[in-house]
Amino acid sequence: MASIDVPLPSLAPLPVWQSLLAWYRAQGRDLPWRHTRDPYAILVAEVMLQQTQVERVIPKYHAFLAAFPSFADLAAASAEAVIRAWAPLGYNQRAVRLQRIARAVMTEHGGAIPITLASLMTLPGVGRYTAGAVACFALGQAVAMVDTNVQRVLTRVFIGDLAPEAAAFARPGRALELAEAAVPPTPDEAYAWNQALMDLGATVCVARAPACVICPLQMLCRTYAQLSAQTLFPSGAALPDLRRVAEAGTVYAVRPAPDKRAAPFKGSNRYVRGRILAALRGLPSGGELALNVLGPMVKPDFSAGDLPWLREVASGLARDGLLAWSDATCTTIRLPD
Ligand code: SF4
Repeated sequence: MASIDVPLPSLAPLPVWQSLLAWYRAQGRDLPWRHTRDPYAILVAEVMLQQTQVERVIPKYHAFLAAFPSFADLAAASAEAVIRAWAPLGYNQRAVRLQRIARAVMTEHGGAIPITLASLMTLPGVGRYTAGAVACFALGQAVAMVDTNVQRVLTRVFIGDLAPEAAAFARPGRALELAEAAVPPTPDEAYAWNQALMDLGATVCVARAPACVICPLQMLCRTYAQLSAQTLFPSGAALPDLRRVAEAGTVYAVRPAPDKRAAPFKGSNRYVRGRILAALRGLPSGGELALNVLGPMVKPDFSAGDLPWLREVASGLARDGLLAWSDATCTTIRLPD
């Protein structure tokens, strides 16, 4: 494995900027959060997008902003209302986290989102990626951010998947170093660049089967050059190298990428948590549910022997702020106030 101390190569990003930004102007996705610079709306979109596909986020983004138009509205709402409004996005802890951020903005920052990366990262649950997105997309700062898609594109373009040092830049700190070296210096170009990287990673330079034949960066991409060289002088080692450096199972051919965000496995902890919250959302506001009534709703063959298991799952949801116990003996649950 390559050392994490391998130096950052000279990038010469100008031609890459020009090609990718031209492609983005022509083919970038028209997404609703690209029509606003409101930090609150940007933050809502970023939190929703963290584990959910764009197509599922768009309608909920509009509905959530209609229900809670500002940090003040979200902070003042009941947790129950916010958790109800989050359905059916899943990963419901994000709703709780978003409200905690709103409350921190209102109580600790006078209702205005902090403006530096460091101060953004003091908000509850806000990491470097979300802070970078708010700083760039809402506050007009020329900063980088790295998610899986961006890291994959940047490594393929500037390092090359077949290069021994590629593995080093898969590490979060080095990936951010690469992204920061590649981001254009002006706020407008940085905005477009970051959005364009996300679009390219989501639609062209996908994990499996990147569509190199239609990629605007084909002639500038080190991975493509390496693959071309191996095609001319086959060594027989291309595929194992790609699998080692890129995601497992990556195959360089033009075919649709599979949807990796599968529904939770039936019976899994995530599945049961989702069923419990769905049962609570089905009650009138303030409604309560006894565990022995809830049991058959989440597990068809539920028996009294399953009560400790169900209580443990419910306790996990309570720890995450997603439900509350109605009684001291932990037999009845409700959505939190
Ligand atoms: Fe990705 Fe292929 Fe484009 Fe390189 S040429 S950035 S590997 S799609």
